[in-house]
Amino acid sequence: MTPAHRVHCHPSPSRHRLAERSHDVIVVGGGHAGVEAALAAARLGVDVALVTPRLDRIGEMSCNPAIGGLGKGQLAREVDALGGVMGQVIDKTGIQFRMLNTRKGYAVRAPRAQADRHLYREEVTRIVESTSGVTIIGLPADGLIIEANEREGGQRVAGVILGDGTRLLAPAVVMTTGTFLSAIMHTGEEQAEGGRVGEAAFAGLSHALTQLGLSLGRLKTGTPPRLDTEGIDWDRLEEQWGDVDPQPFSYATEDRGVLFPTLPQVACHITYTSEAAHDLIRQNIHRAPMYAGRIQGQGPRYCPSVEDKVMRFPDRDRHQIFLEPEGLDTRVIYANGISTSLPAEVQEQFVRTVEGLERTRFIRHGYAVEYDFVMPAQLDPTLAVSRVPGLFLAGQINGTSGYEEAAAQGLMAGANAALWVTDRAPFVLGRDQAYVGVLVDDLVVSQPTEPYRMFTSRAEYRLMLRQDNADERLTAQASECGLVGDEQLARMTARRAGKDRALELLRTTRRSDESGNSRALIDWLRRPEIDFAQLERENPELAELELTPSQRVGVEAEVKYEGYVERQKRDVDRLARQESLLIPQDVDFAGLEGLSGEAREKLASLRPRTLGAATRIAGVNPPDVSLLAIHLERRRRAESIHAPD
Ligand SMILES: Cc1cc2nc3c(=O)[nH]c(=O)nc-3n(C[C@H](O)[C@H](O)[C@H](O)COP(=O)(O)OP(=O)(O)OC[C@H]3O[C@@H](n4cnc5c(N)ncnc54)[C@H](O)[C@@H]3O)c2cc1C
Repeated sequence: MTPAHRVHCHPSPSRHRLAERSHDVIVVGGGHAGVEAALAAARLGVDVALVTPRLDRIGEMSCNPAIGGLGKGQLAREVDALGGVMGQVIDKTGIQFRMLNTRKGYAVRAPRAQADRHLYREEVTRIVESTSGVTIIGLPADGLIIEANEREGGQRVAGVILGDGTRLLAPAVVMTTGTFLSAIMHTGEEQAEGGRVGEAAFAGLSHALTQLGLSLGRLKTGTPPRLDTEGIDWDRLEEQWGDVDPQPFSYATEDRGVLFPTLPQVACHITYTSEAAHDLIRQNIHRAPMYAGRIQGQGPRYCPSVEDKVMRFPDRDRHQIFLEPEGLDTRVIYANGISTSLPAEVQEQFVRTVEGLERTRFIRHGYAVEYDFVMPAQLDPTLAVSRVPGLFLAGQINGTSGYEEAAAQGLMAGANAALWVTDRAPFVLGRDQAYVGVLVDDLVVSQPTEPYRMFTSRAEYRLMLRQDNADERLTAQASECGLVGDEQLARMTARRAGKDRALELLRTTRRSDESGNSRALIDWLRRPEIDFAQLERENPELAELELTPSQRVGVEAEVKYEGYVERQKRDVDRLARQESLLIPQDVDFAGLEGLSGEAREKLASLRPRTLGAATRIAGVNPPDVSLLAIHLERRRRAESIHAPD
């Protein structure tokens, strides 16, 4: 069968025709997006099929065995606050936990943890397998079943065609196929089809999406070599341990007082590339697929390959390499920092010039993978494809990179697919509510030219969107739509009450300062050099509250940031008015005088729905937005003058 035959079109009268469907929602792909999508949909009470070709790869970490990091740690905390499983799984399977940026402001602090890769995958698989309402099907999807959309015109999705030809029906399909669509792996001159080492690539769905008229692009990402622990001279390398008092990702771990960390903790080690390594890389650069022109897709600028680092920063004489164990019972070491797709023999040569790695043995060489993604500007804020009702996309398929970005999108897409098939209101988060909101909002107006990853700098309201308060921002809303249960909501409420008791004590307890003036503890806490832990030590009534670490940080941040947060809230209100100003779909951007050429082109092709969305399109600058705002205001006035009474 040619791929073209895999998209089937036949008429169907109704979205909810029960006799024809086997499931309510089909999730295609069992990676980080797919798992959260399936579980979120199941939590909302619908019947889910999770279609994924390898049952032994559900929840696989394709690249680095770690969760969290700057921006990503906040996303993982939000996924947890929304009822997702990423946080609980890493708490159980983490082998090193660190809170990053503890010397910087609360807004940029973020948790990160190394995982035992195998245990992480096993735990995810156990959770999915034990969730009622989720049926796992161990086959690839090869095409989409598309029907004429009689109610609204156009087309709509009606299911998927599995690799063995079976037709699986559902009114909603969430595609989360990661790096696998028409994927090619590159190591030097060698190319092989596949989305991840040892696994196949799938072209059928790329064809199906193209046939639907969707615009696809091509991106690239890479992974470093995996080394054998036995060939590394560990004694010569700098050790890096996790935090002495590690903090869990999941609020549930914190509240339930379970043993944490569950697993023994290990050290990572640090070494550096050498001048000799840089010379070898330069001499062989013409053999790197990106430089030889064999890869069309753009890779992530913020996560460059070692060959990119050497070529782009010729003045740097060394680059850091973190040697991260992939687990407790494995010899595999992940060489973080030297992602590469140079030929295998060049990789071996340059790695052996690195201090401590002279005798190293390779378990696997680094490689790059190039894959199709769908231009995310074709999605609406529920992550549904605007022109194909019932089709939702989440994760790397939307041009993002990273487990946390994938999990966050998966949860939102799975939830919205379930809400949609049951005719309930969609669940959409704003930029002032969550990093998840920032992520989705950025995506739906973007045409990525490199994989999108989260950074704290993308969130303009980051003082409000802290890792410590993800629960207070999101759990109640998630509970309203049925995504989290009563127990999780009650735990959040109890945590908030504990913080309120602490704030009350801080306001009412007074201590004298150096000059004998009595001052409330809250004023002491406002001083930059004083933290909550110090006040706890000096005031037993505070210590008796037995706040958890995230409650302590939360109280501290609320007190120290009070003025700034108030200002941000005012900004949110002011911008909300502009944000929600609708742009009528018939605005003729080409005819709008004064817009820059690039803004005109981007606005015409992306057609943002609101002025807020227009402000975030790359190439649409503040003067363009002002002009557009004036135009909209004039038009509104003209229409209100001409409107009949
Ligand atoms: C080589 C490599 C290097 C990477 N480097 C980085 C990096 O440096 N930094 C970073 O942040 N991220 C990196 N990643 C990306 C990271 O792995 C992803 O961001 C993350 O896994 C995306 O999650 P996902 O759920 O969207 O997709 P994936 O985790 O890729 O999961 C996709 C799932 O879909 C399934 N699937 C695929 N096709 C079909 C089909 N036709 N039918 C049914 N199921 C299907 C797959 O089997 C898999 O289970 C890398 C990935 C690879 C492969």
